[in-house]
Amino acid sequence: MIEHARSLPTHWDLEADVVVAGFGAAGFAASVTAHDLGANVLILEKAPEGQHGGNTRVAGQGYLNTSAAEKAAAYLRALCGPYAVPEPMVQVWAEEMCRNNDWLASLGGDPQEHQHQPVGIEFPDLPGADCVHKFHDGPTYGFSYTWKLFERLVKERPIPILYETPARELIQHDVSKEILGLRAGRGEKSFHVKARRAVVLTCGGFENNQEMIRNYLPGVPYCYTSGSPYNEGDGITMAMAVGADLWHMNNYAGPSMALKVPQVRTSFSMQALHFSKQMAGGMIVVGPDARRFCDEKYKTRHGKVPVNGRWAPLFTPCPIFMIFDHTLFAAGPLYDKHPSHGWTQIVERYDWSPDNSAELANGWIKTADSLPALAEVLGLSPAALVDTVTRWNRCCDAEHDAEFGRKLMLEPILEKPFYAVELSPSMLNTQGGPRRNEKGQVVRPDGTPIPRLYSAGELGSIYSYLYQGTGNIGECLAFGRISGRNAAAETPWL
Ligand SMILES: Cc1cc2nc3c(=O)[nH]c(=O)nc-3n(C[C@H](O)[C@H](O)[C@H](O)COP(=O)(O)OP(=O)(O)OC[C@H]3O[C@@H](n4cnc5c(N)ncnc54)[C@H](O)[C@@H]3O)c2cc1C
Repeated sequence: MIEHARSLPTHWDLEADVVVAGFGAAGFAASVTAHDLGANVLILEKAPEGQHGGNTRVAGQGYLNTSAAEKAAAYLRALCGPYAVPEPMVQVWAEEMCRNNDWLASLGGDPQEHQHQPVGIEFPDLPGADCVHKFHDGPTYGFSYTWKLFERLVKERPIPILYETPARELIQHDVSKEILGLRAGRGEKSFHVKARRAVVLTCGGFENNQEMIRNYLPGVPYCYTSGSPYNEGDGITMAMAVGADLWHMNNYAGPSMALKVPQVRTSFSMQALHFSKQMAGGMIVVGPDARRFCDEKYKTRHGKVPVNGRWAPLFTPCPIFMIFDHTLFAAGPLYDKHPSHGWTQIVERYDWSPDNSAELANGWIKTADSLPALAEVLGLSPAALVDTVTRWNRCCDAEHDAEFGRKLMLEPILEKPFYAVELSPSMLNTQGGPRRNEKGQVVRPDGTPIPRLYSAGELGSIYSYLYQGTGNIGECLAFGRISGRNAAAETPWL
């Protein structure tokens, strides 16, 4: 039994062996693992029922299952490049990432390999890259199928899930520094939850915390997500308050360029900007000087582009505008509402008009009869915009983008009226958060663990620089299992 401390609540409202904060992939893996090892588990989830599941619910549903640990370790080291992570972390990640399929199959899942290999290997030239195998559960990737398996596996166990109940503060013994539980809330109501063995933080990243974005993400004064609006960096604030170190706060799966409007919580990706969509009509993207700044159709590596022989986040000189002509406007909806992945498509379900007319009428799309007039509407230099479009049209005539080497949709901007959509930097997810060790324990700046505090998932993920698609959910499973089993193995403090 632990000695009483000043900071302990006099009364606990709820208790469990292991308290898991956040019900996405990492929360699933941690809670099922701890439960199956005999621990009594409670999940706290910030979102209301039906909007839980975090980014996992709306992801492409792929998870990484590497084919060989040695190759996986080499690939991860190469992905991290100059931003090396400690070797014990590389080793444990590599070993666990090979076990994702076997573990899910042992629970009744049906791992299916994506059929579009080898496109899925993001950096094929790096050592060990052929270890990459991307899987999903269910008939195809997308459409929340893998998430539905995770959700079912939790729900078929006696694991209570408290929705609309965010974890707000960790309760730490003021002498031993052990984490004994947490303070959670529902609306104005606040209550204390005892964690007899451990707390596992699996509450996602800081995709919706603009202050953290300004402080930590390179080159973006603001950024919006196509994932869950409930990920607001709470785990980072809570872990910092009990002495955690942070890592990988400057790494994220982004930016891309997307439309964000106040009426909808998450961003709209524009079809014309997708590297694989070929639409009729002319389109470029310009910055505040009315000049282009990139190959608009480049397939970034989750937001990274080549710069001087290295990879760096796409430069987004906000505000940025997609400029296009009537041919593109008339070619079909600018946004693809197909509900395969993305919070906007799957949860918000905004019904974009097939001819873009509603979005023109509500001002999301701006228009003018001439380019100088459009520039005036946008607050850009008319002369600079006309010059930029003239140069672009010449590139199209020459079938060569002399400025940025764009190869797709080399179509001139010709037919009036002309249009613009203001774009914002957008992302899938952040990677940073409290630093963890190979046991899944959250550690202090000196590397010592904070007793009884674990984490998993994108909250402090291992990815420090380059990112291999499906690596996030793969890591949720790997570190969810590690943290779940170590949390369950703690000796109860009472
Ligand atoms: C559109 C899209 C496509 C993607 N596709 C893929 C893919 O195919 N493969 C892949 O590997 N990755 C993909 N990613 C990234 C991946 O989805 C995430 O990194 C991963 O799902 C994160 O899982 P998680 O469990 O750590 O967090 P999440 O799944 O985001 O879950 C976190 C949960 O914590 C809850 N929460 C937040 N704060 C609190 C609090 N204070 N208390 C309690 N609960 C809280 C949230 O509501 C949420 O339910 C994609 C992301 C997006 C947005």
